[in-house]
Amino acid sequence: MLSVENVQSGYGNKLAIKDVSVEIGRGEIITLIGANGAGKSTTLMTICGVVPCRAGRIVFEGREIQALPPEEIVRMGICQVPEGRHIFPQLTVKENLDMGAFLRRDKAEVKKDIDYVFSLFPILAERRNQDGGNLSGGEQQMLAMSRALMARPRVLLLDEPSMGLAPLVIRQIFEIIRQINRENNTTIFLVEQNANQALHIADRGYVMENGRITLTGKAQELLDNKDIQKAYLGI
Ligand code: ATP
Repeated sequence: MLSVENVQSGYGNKLAIKDVSVEIGRGEIITLIGANGAGKSTTLMTICGVVPCRAGRIVFEGREIQALPPEEIVRMGICQVPEGRHIFPQLTVKENLDMGAFLRRDKAEVKKDIDYVFSLFPILAERRNQDGGNLSGGEQQMLAMSRALMARPRVLLLDEPSMGLAPLVIRQIFEIIRQINRENNTTIFLVEQNANQALHIADRGYVMENGRITLTGKAQELLDNKDIQKAYLGI
């Protein structure tokens, strides 16, 4: 469905990703794990057109997208939940959700999707008139995911959804990622430092070091791999 082929990108004269290839099939949950600074966020931002692709190709459903502007990529069905959430703090929960549906004209369906995200995250329904900035970290993560879902993505790119959250909230967020994948067949590309949790919900995984993919395999194979256990799972 989405294929990243020998992609390079970076900032100024620094290449943050040097040669990255990733294949994501329709309906899969794929995780990208790696240490701080390995290039995981840059990979996501290159897919969604925020950081320009300098070499290689990114192909979504048969069409090259690496030179398209970010809003066109969102319109095609790829949506990112950025690291640090970046919700609109001075807008209410409901207004944040409306922003997620900004490019849509199908008002009745938008209303259905608001009901759907409120069913996924009932706490957001309770807080619909509160400012986003007054929510807890976990609630802001839920709002950021919900806002992305309002664009009805076919591929959801999630950047470190567990960052800074309590273990119970992390479990809840990961369970809902699985639910979104199952209920809507939404394809998920999940970047995580929390390799253990990510590999437990993923079908397959990629390991990134210094801007390159160094290993890939089924999630269970990576969980059983002694090097991965030592480097990323704390075993
Ligand atoms: P983390 O988990 O810490 O976010 P990451 O694997 O997502 O790490 P990136 O954020 O993609 O890694 O960073 C890859 C490299 O690019 C790092 O060396 C980082 O310092 C650098 N980098 C990231 N963003 C910028 C930027 N806006 N300007 C310059 N360099 C950047």
